[in-house]
Amino acid sequence: PAADALLLAQVTTGDAAQQRRAIAKTITLLESTRADHRLRADALLNALLPHTGRSFRLGISGVPGVGKSTFIEALGLHLIALGHRVAVLAVDPSSSVSGGSILGDKTRMEQLSVNESAYIRPSPSSGTLGGVAERTREAMLVCEAAGYDMVIVETVGVGQSETAVAGMTDMFVLMQLPNAGDDLQAIKKGVMEIADLVVINKADLDEAAATRARAQISSAQRLFHGHGMAHPAPGAPEETPGRPKFPPPPWGAAGAQSRPGGTIEQWQPTVIQLSALKAQGVDTFWQTVQRFRTLRAAAGQIAARRQRQDESWMWERLDAGLKARFRAHPGVREQLAPLTAAVRAGQVAASVAARRLLDLLDTR
Ligand code: GDP
Repeated sequence: PAADALLLAQVTTGDAAQQRRAIAKTITLLESTRADHRLRADALLNALLPHTGRSFRLGISGVPGVGKSTFIEALGLHLIALGHRVAVLAVDPSSSVSGGSILGDKTRMEQLSVNESAYIRPSPSSGTLGGVAERTREAMLVCEAAGYDMVIVETVGVGQSETAVAGMTDMFVLMQLPNAGDDLQAIKKGVMEIADLVVINKADLDEAAATRARAQISSAQRLFHGHGMAHPAPGAPEETPGRPKFPPPPWGAAGAQSRPGGTIEQWQPTVIQLSALKAQGVDTFWQTVQRFRTLRAAAGQIAARRQRQDESWMWERLDAGLKARFRAHPGVREQLAPLTAAVRAGQVAASVAARRLLDLLDTR
């Protein structure tokens, strides 16, 4: 419809105020569960797609209280001072249960939230984690189409939401407290494996502990990753011949760092320490991110990671959609409960029950 064409124009070319309203409207449309809204939203999303992909996508995770919002505020203001536009989105796994959201709340980033060059959006508040993550991913595309060149996606330290955020970003950062090194077991191995960068925050509280944690996490990383190994996106299927979907990144391949012998230097997961509260180390953090981006872009790994991510998101949504349709099928609705009871009672083998239920899909 004409209204959606206008929305598209406002998102991509409107002035700042128009754009802000249009982004909010578009995201609301994308989050709607009404079937007619979904049709319009899908068309709009596809129309926005050619305008997306030019940002850098940064995932940040850590337990509540580690200092995520303090850090994102400091980083966001630093980036805006450098001329960037910053979008902050959140995936809050608790929101899908409680309907409330603790992440991305505007009161948490007071200065950033009123800055013209920032856009802050709390976590979508309902649905499964997969649904919440998907809405956030779509919101990210809308922000990119509006010219936000830095998208930060925040989540809390819960395994599945971290995997989801790592699966929609170019770089995944894990924030830790200075005492993290004392109990490395507490840092789940899976998260360590997907973290491209670990940040020890609150280094101002205990410099010595932060330095110790940095050394311990560094050596743990070397154990997990080995040296010089490629580092695929989490949950991604095997590499497939990709269509050239994204335009070449504007940051180009300049800055590829060749080593003697002609091999390209690979990014090694890294640990840095900083103080978000005192805004100390934020510039070092940004330099580290840029080094990551330059190395990965030069090797074509950012585009490759995005292609793998797109494909696995498609499958993730297919899995979820198929399950929903399965449960909605009239025959399944009728027989699911009795067959489940029979399986529990040991009267029907689980695999046989599954086959019977699946066969129902072929009947109308
Ligand atoms: P979040 O829950 O991860 O978003 O954490 P917050 O950013 O809300 O920070 C939690 C508390 O830690 C707040 O009281 C912050 O002021 C404090 N905090 C954050 N970063 C630092 C830091 O670098 N040093 C110190 N001393 N306190 C910090």
